[in-house]
Amino acid sequence: MTLVHNNSVSAFQKAVTLIPGGVNSPVRAFGNVNDTPVFYDHARGSKVWDVDGNCYTDFICSWGPLIFGAGDETVLSAVKQQLDKGVSFGAPCMAELQLAQKIVDVVPGVEEVRMVSSGTEATMSAIRLARGLTQRNKIVKFAGNYHGHSDSLLVSAGSGVATCGIPDTPGVTAATASDTMVARYNDAASLEELFAAHGNDIACVIVEPVSGNMGVVPPEKGFLESIRALCTQYGALLIFDEVITGFRLALGGAQEYFGIEADLCTFGKIIGGGFPVGCIAGKRQFMEGFAPVGSVYQAGTLSGNPVAMVAGYAQLSKLQQAGSVFYDELARKCSFIASSLRTFCAEHEFPVQVNNIGSVFTLFFSSQPVCNWDSASRCNTKQFAHYFSSMLDAGFLIAPSQFESVFISAAHTQEDCEAFVEAACRALQRVPWN
Ligand code: PMP
Repeated sequence: MTLVHNNSVSAFQKAVTLIPGGVNSPVRAFGNVNDTPVFYDHARGSKVWDVDGNCYTDFICSWGPLIFGAGDETVLSAVKQQLDKGVSFGAPCMAELQLAQKIVDVVPGVEEVRMVSSGTEATMSAIRLARGLTQRNKIVKFAGNYHGHSDSLLVSAGSGVATCGIPDTPGVTAATASDTMVARYNDAASLEELFAAHGNDIACVIVEPVSGNMGVVPPEKGFLESIRALCTQYGALLIFDEVITGFRLALGGAQEYFGIEADLCTFGKIIGGGFPVGCIAGKRQFMEGFAPVGSVYQAGTLSGNPVAMVAGYAQLSKLQQAGSVFYDELARKCSFIASSLRTFCAEHEFPVQVNNIGSVFTLFFSSQPVCNWDSASRCNTKQFAHYFSSMLDAGFLIAPSQFESVFISAAHTQEDCEAFVEAACRALQRVPWN
């Protein structure tokens, strides 16, 4: 089938005159894949309808938050009730307590929670807290990990000069970037070297416990344990950025899944039930560094917004009730797709890698295993663009980039998953491999 996108095309022509690049977040642009973004009209369950009336099966899921699919009734009814009570207070409310209690109940090691409005704010504030508590300036991140767009976290990923903190985004000062050091994901020795050279200056190490932002790259055995041990040894705080993994990999996120406790963790996406929310969470001894108890300043007009709080609480409560069988079922669907594609590509000798864990996977256009940014960045993005276009035309929405995750939700039926595999196999047969 060839979908007609006339209304999306004209909406985009208007959008570029009003919004830089026509999008409010660059990941939504289809420039990478030589196409025009689809303008959504409405969504329900696993389906999205665009402004031309085309229906797609959605494997973006709002980039992670919609773990029950679009328009979940439990979340919607909590939101509708709250709308009548007030949409914004800028004052303490009971809904904040409920959501905080839920997170404290299910995430290992978490005693207190500070709400913000995005994942970016959460990681930015967690880093400020770590610096304030340790009185140290330097931080370490891993190449290919993304933690939002605050200045100190937008430091070059992957290049040889990255460890020196050369900024690659204009607008980030060299001084800011020089306090961010970059280690290689799945390479504890690269972190050990940084600690050996700068151990007394490192405030924290921030990591995506499962990388989702260079495509899905799970941690190799022992990697997270080594980071934990090095942070403890050198008195640096370990921050798990669980904006994607939180309440997705398991109810208690990566910390439960891998049995490792970070000192601070950050959440977003799922904890807002589709509304703009993030949070910093951790042990009381650290969290009370934040004002007004401690002296690390952190604030927000819409932080703890009641509509977002009730949406998040409804979603987390439903996840908690569903329990581990829910996560097993998501993982089963995901590994069905991943292993079907792996088998198909092996039979056809296509140079493709499929990484999956829990309910996320990425199909990488590479003949080599993808275990860090060096290997991810060698993927053939032109081949990905062909694959993406065929998938879109077949009615399947995936992120328009090789370096993103495909998300499985509870709304995806077995039929959706089988149809995805069929479409993906057809799409792969059309990719120009040479
Ligand atoms: N951390 C991780 C791991 C993320 O994936 C993202 C966003 N995709 C962020 C932080 C930033 O979150 P937000 O876009 O809500 O600012």
